[in-house]
Amino acid sequence: MDKDFLKKFVNIKRETKAMINIDPLQAGGKLTDEARQALVEWGDGFSVCDFCPGRLEGIKKPPIYDFVHQALPDFIGADVVHLTHGAREGKFLIMHALAQPNDFIIIDKSAHYTTYVAAERAGLKIKVVENSGYPEFKINVDDYEKAINEIQNEGKGKIALLVLTYPDGNYGNLPDAKKLATISQKYKIPFLLNTAYAVGRMPINMNETGADFIVASGHKSMASSGPIGFVGMKKEWDEVLFKKSQYFAKKEVGILGCVSRGTAIMTLMASFPSVVERIKEWPKQVEKAQWFSRQLEKQGLKQLGEKPHNHDLMFFEAEKLYEISKTHKGGAFFLYKELKKNNIWGIKPGLTKNFKLSTFAANKEELQKVVDVFASLLD
Ligand SMILES: *Cc1c(COP(=O)(O)O)cnc(C)c1O
Repeated sequence: MDKDFLKKFVNIKRETKAMINIDPLQAGGKLTDEARQALVEWGDGFSVCDFCPGRLEGIKKPPIYDFVHQALPDFIGADVVHLTHGAREGKFLIMHALAQPNDFIIIDKSAHYTTYVAAERAGLKIKVVENSGYPEFKINVDDYEKAINEIQNEGKGKIALLVLTYPDGNYGNLPDAKKLATISQKYKIPFLLNTAYAVGRMPINMNETGADFIVASGHKSMASSGPIGFVGMKKEWDEVLFKKSQYFAKKEVGILGCVSRGTAIMTLMASFPSVVERIKEWPKQVEKAQWFSRQLEKQGLKQLGEKPHNHDLMFFEAEKLYEISKTHKGGAFFLYKELKKNNIWGIKPGLTKNFKLSTFAANKEELQKVVDVFASLLD
């Protein structure tokens, strides 16, 4: 192969690395210093497997066993935790184990696309519970009961699972998960809480909520390089989800034997002490988000979703910026370009009228700078 062509794959610089980051996808996944060290130390392929007893989660050196069996269950209030490659793989694992093809799952209108594709891969039918629409887009969990009755009364099929996105990835709304747990118990339908944007940012306790399952994302919200996530569950589900191979007694079929074996688990562990600390600061994070929302609203932007807001992920509507983009020489890309010029990263190129952002990673001083840039553009 041509040597000059091959050069393009090497020594690639990341231009956005040192910028103020308000990208919702990235804000909770920034590595801690400890994780950055672990990344280099454990970068060699399969190096975590030096002392593997046959299962990744059984490795005692490095202490993956203690992390998975003790630290994580304690952290999220679940009986049992197992590692996955991410939240989506957790959802698929649960759906595939619990449901037969053509069974129903009931999900919220604000569900992430990965909930859909996981269900499609498992061959399931999807019933969607609507939200309240503009401007708050709230999910009323009582509507799950209506959806259950509709499917059951019309004899349409078995309902294998209720799924709630907590919070959703568009508006950052936090629906009433505890109430949905009581509905799931009343109808004896298992309940999965998708906390890709919650575990690692804010306090969550699965057993207190009353869910059967929870899925989390390491690269989204736990300062891990990923790809990694985990499922938490009530004890009785462990055997259902984690059946052992009939050919290899130690290997679980549902996860093809092992999941993220490498820097993903090592960075997740190395960041964990900091993550335990940072969730104690959650009220301050909420305060910061609400302050930021007020500052942008003062300039004529409108925050959609729940108000006052209870999460760092927020969605804004900005008619004025859209109007400016019509005549600006940068066109639809002007907002992205102006922010970038000011060392701010995270609003998708080409968006002006509607966009989401996160205040999780940036401190108040940095957010003030973001506010000031918006002010100068709207002046
Ligand atoms: C980001 C996100 C996911 C996907 O997480 P992965 O760990 O990458 O699979 C799933 N659900 C929601 C709500 C998300 O925001």
